[in-house]
Amino acid sequence: MPELTVVVPTYNEAPNVAALLRRVDGALVGRVDYEVVVVDDNSPDGTADVVRSVQGEYPVRVVVRKDERGLASAVIEGFRQAKGEVVGAIDADLQHPPEKLPELLQKVREGADIVVASRYESGGAIEGWTLGRKVVSRGARLLAYVFAPSSRRSRDPLSGFFLLRRSAIEGVDLRPVGYKILLEILVRGHVGRVASVPFSFADREAGQSKYGVREQVNYLRHLARLMPADKGLRRFLKFCLVGGSGVLVNMGLLWLLTEVAGLFYLVSSAVAVECAILNNFLWNDVWTFRDRRAAGWRARLGRFARFNVFVLAGLGINVAFLWLFTERLGVYYLLSNLIGIAAATMWNFLVNSRWTWGAGPPRP
Ligand code: UDP
Ligand code: MG
Repeated sequence: MPELTVVVPTYNEAPNVAALLRRVDGALVGRVDYEVVVVDDNSPDGTADVVRSVQGEYPVRVVVRKDERGLASAVIEGFRQAKGEVVGAIDADLQHPPEKLPELLQKVREGADIVVASRYESGGAIEGWTLGRKVVSRGARLLAYVFAPSSRRSRDPLSGFFLLRRSAIEGVDLRPVGYKILLEILVRGHVGRVASVPFSFADREAGQSKYGVREQVNYLRHLARLMPADKGLRRFLKFCLVGGSGVLVNMGLLWLLTEVAGLFYLVSSAVAVECAILNNFLWNDVWTFRDRRAAGWRARLGRFARFNVFVLAGLGINVAFLWLFTERLGVYYLLSNLIGIAAATMWNFLVNSRWTWGAGPPRP
């Protein structure tokens, strides 16, 4: 059994694929027990025949798909056919340097579940792209970071060059549309540690890119499909719902204590705010972050103390934004307050998910 299976998706790559196989072999032969699976989308230019003609020289198989097309699904097909415990993808057009494969593999051996060859790391680069394509790429990454927050674990979640432990996708139903298979795996896979290796994305050697408007539309469809599956996004929505429940508790108690119990309304408010904080803490502890909490009352009290401090700071942020937008920028005060609430919510989520429920259960 080979340790590593490298999957190469191809469509009309006859002028490139032999050189790619030679370079992959040059990087791995004698060092790593590997195989290559070329998944060809029935290229009319004879790509599959070129691969067959070098089968005596390298450990390579070719799978020709006749009834499906597309980069991401091709890679999944390759993973399905892979024999290695470590699997990975690399483009056929020599834009991804195969010489990086040993370094990527080393990181998996050291414990990473996924290793991304990254263009957006110090030491990484992109050669030959127009400004337009660079902007599209950055914009696409930003969209992923917002709508599929699990992708934030890599600086280059849209890279097409990566290795992973097969266990990260075992039993996972992957169904991407378009190009971005790594994004699909980061969101849906069982991904513990993510590592990266910088690389320089080269100019295409020969042939033509198949990337275009169609793939941009596919990307948006893909993101829309991933959103409900993204654990990070779901957690944020739960956190917002809990925040909404806190507003109800706050308003209800303010009214009850003032009207029914006859307290001065500012005194009622202080009690109501603290009760709302307690309400939010409990829901977040048993629901939003239930997978991340350490057991025991002492730990829970510690989390409650931290939550209090962060949320009160969030209140400060809310008021600061209200003041800034109203006084300095002339925005209508109710609108300023909405901006303040949004800023405070982001703050509360970020700091509490990092420091209140961040460390996870302590390990023995
Ligand atoms: N590819 C594929 N099926 C497709 C489109 C592309 O197998 O439907 C392969 C292509 O042959 C190449 C890789 O995916 O090996 C990346 O495609 P391309 O170079 O066209 O994209 P770009 O690098 O311009 O983003
Ligand atoms: Mg390319």
